[in-house]
Amino acid sequence: MNKPKINRVEMPRQKADKRKGNFNEVAQGYTHEMAKTEASRCLQCKKYPCIKGCPVNIDIPGFIKAIRDDDLPGAVGVLKKDNILPGICGRVCPQETQCEELCVFNKSGNAIAIGRLERFVADWELKNKDKVKPVAVSRSTGKKVAVVGSGPASLTIAADLARMGHDVTLFEALHTTGGVLIYGIPDFRLPSEIVGEEVDNIKALGVKVELNYLIGTIESVDELLGRFDAVFLGTGAGLPIFMNLPGENLSGVYSANEFLTRVNLMQAYRFPEYHTPVKVGKQVAVIGGGNVAMDAARSALRLGADKVYVVYRRSEAEMPARREEVENAYEEGIEFIFLANPTRFLGDEKKVLKAIECIRMELGEPDSSGRRRPLPVSGSEFTLDVDVAIVALGTNPNPLITSTTPDLKTTRWGTLVCDEDTGRTTCPGVWAGGDVVTGSATVISAMGAARRAAVDIDKYLKGDYIRPGQYWRESKGEEPAE
Ligand code: FAD
Ligand code: SF4
Repeated sequence: MNKPKINRVEMPRQKADKRKGNFNEVAQGYTHEMAKTEASRCLQCKKYPCIKGCPVNIDIPGFIKAIRDDDLPGAVGVLKKDNILPGICGRVCPQETQCEELCVFNKSGNAIAIGRLERFVADWELKNKDKVKPVAVSRSTGKKVAVVGSGPASLTIAADLARMGHDVTLFEALHTTGGVLIYGIPDFRLPSEIVGEEVDNIKALGVKVELNYLIGTIESVDELLGRFDAVFLGTGAGLPIFMNLPGENLSGVYSANEFLTRVNLMQAYRFPEYHTPVKVGKQVAVIGGGNVAMDAARSALRLGADKVYVVYRRSEAEMPARREEVENAYEEGIEFIFLANPTRFLGDEKKVLKAIECIRMELGEPDSSGRRRPLPVSGSEFTLDVDVAIVALGTNPNPLITSTTPDLKTTRWGTLVCDEDTGRTTCPGVWAGGDVVTGSATVISAMGAARRAAVDIDKYLKGDYIRPGQYWRESKGEEPAE
């Protein structure tokens, strides 16, 4: 096993006592010197195992070498060839289960900090735009593409297609761009200015943006097809899943989507300066164990809750949240109640939440996800006194577009039926990628799907395929299976 001479360079963070009282970014980023030291550890492996772990195939040794050689404009160039959103990915990608997991140093617990280096390069670029060559854009093809949504899938495909010379317009339902990056992930993990800067870089490629434009009501997908040569759907999975338990509609019970949208997008923590209020509970329970649950719990703490519990039906080992964020949550004082699940929400006479009844769980045999199935322990009910509960159990796509576009086939979860390699949907001329196809997943998986779809749309627009009406059948030779 390879042994690095020096250990992974730690990244400075705000101290837990201080940060739990503000929404400023927790991780502070590497200094130039730290980045160079970290970059100097990389072996520049010939078979580059780390790249195989990256869904958009960034030339990882290439950009790390450029940092080591003090060529930061060069590092930006290498990164941006494959990833137009490095400041975002450097902050929120689960590198520990992707590129860093395959790094040769990982077995000794000392993987190169690829994400931190990516973030360093991206932040350097934002402060040194004049030193970086603008991304090249090909000559106009005269073809027009409509991209619906403005989350990471849509931003990525918009940038790729614009670079290929196509005329791209993004249609976003909300009053601002970024999707979950803006309305879901809080500033203390991903500052909205970083998202804004990276969106501006994409607009600079010539991408047009229509805000407050809900496709499915203002204009249908079929109508878009009348005025664009191709349509990409990157509409995400914004419909929260609830537990269907008694008392779930009591005042004080939120979906994580609603809670985080109020806090992040509408800045409810600055009410009444901003117009949207949010109920700030004193005793808060968040149900779930993913990144969304961690974000909701840590936001509630920052809003002034005295006590925040995370109630999760499996054990800590099965939690899907990033390890780093679970550790941050522990440090900030979040209390985890593992192997427990709510059975009902209890309210007072005014229908305001006052407690949750939970039941203890134990782990049985593995289920289809490979994780051990949680089973209730009969007679083990207990009550948790809380005035706010936040349900963070995942999301499904909103059915608005599929209900207004009969040709689009969906799975039983409401996700779009789509060819994995190309993003083609069952509707000729329409592609899709990201959470609307996979259900809630990750930023980088949405970006990877968008890049594959961009290649296919480009071929289609250049006439490498048959006319749209025969598109699916002739190119795949069959109807897609549900
Ligand atoms: P989205 O980001 O959901 O964007 C879809 C966009 O489409 C939205 O802006 C929406 O308003 C718009 N839209 C929807 N319908 C219409 C319509 N009809 N007309 C016009 N516009 C429409 N992933 C990670 O990798 N790391 C993390 O740490 C992480 N943390 C997360 C924390 C939270 C709180 C949440 C909710 C998710 C997190 N994720 C994380 C998941 C990640 O954010 C998503 O997988 C990713 O954003 C999906 O990208 P997308 O482009 O498919 O969709
Ligand atoms: Fe560098 Fe690790 Fe990739 Fe090897 S596997 S090139 S050491 S980042």
